[in-house]
Amino acid sequence: MLIGRFAGKLLKQKRQRGLLLEVRKLEVRILGAHSGEAKKCRMSSVLIDGILALDAGGLTASLSLSQQQKVRAVLLTHHHFDHSRDLVTLGANGSSFPLPLEIFALSQTLEVLNSCLLDGKMYADFSKWPSEDRPYLRQRVIEPLKPQRVQGYEVLAVPVQHSVASVGFQVTSGEGKSMFYTGDTGPGLADCWHYVAPQLLIIEVSGPNKSQDFLKSVGHLSPELLKEELVQFSNVKRYFPRVVVSHVPPAFQGDVAREIKGIARELKTRIDIGYEGMIITL
Ligand SMILES: [Zn+2]
Ligand SMILES: [Zn+2]
Repeated sequence: MLIGRFAGKLLKQKRQRGLLLEVRKLEVRILGAHSGEAKKCRMSSVLIDGILALDAGGLTASLSLSQQQKVRAVLLTHHHFDHSRDLVTLGANGSSFPLPLEIFALSQTLEVLNSCLLDGKMYADFSKWPSEDRPYLRQRVIEPLKPQRVQGYEVLAVPVQHSVASVGFQVTSGEGKSMFYTGDTGPGLADCWHYVAPQLLIIEVSGPNKSQDFLKSVGHLSPELLKEELVQFSNVKRYFPRVVVSHVPPAFQGDVAREIKGIARELKTRIDIGYEGMIITL
């Protein structure tokens, strides 16, 4: 009994020091599944178990204040506005958060955010405000391809092909449940597949096949380009993960959904179009 209690205490201490992964079910909730905003369409955001957010394009409008208070860390794939804008609105609610909210991103991403979005001119710089010692947002640099413990999860940032420095994030729980979120990416993920082994893949498609050349030139995917990446995935990993498509422009929702359906049929695998409020439990 005593040994059991001692082991339990040790486990708790290790968890608190971030040495162990938490055993969690990995409930993945899509808060923003679009690259633009309209009624019922929000910009890129995913929430894991209510505490870990991936991108901040549609966080605050999707969550009550008490739900926002439970979010302990935000991982940013890159600096683009549709992925980072809610750092400002989260900061504005910061006085009600129990602790500073941790923002993890590449150093290049933080550099742009600090000079453009959190520059203290557009609004308060919440990474220094109300004080440098205890700001509402605390910035943390994340290194690509170095597994890191964040809030009890193992997080791996994997570089992807976009118009600015960008990473996708693999998030793994203590039970070995794993998901990979690409953020914005163009074609050329073959290398990426060697580093990840997710059960769930949330990947972008930013327009229909007729815009393929343009999408490719600005570091995005069409349904047909997604097909090529998924074929590469199955060649490397010998399986298909469950696939959820995100980052669809509201204006092209119907076209993209139709084309994705055809691709799922061709590949004989499940591909869903993500939507606000979608919950996937691994
Ligand atoms: Zn982008
Ligand atoms: Zn984007």
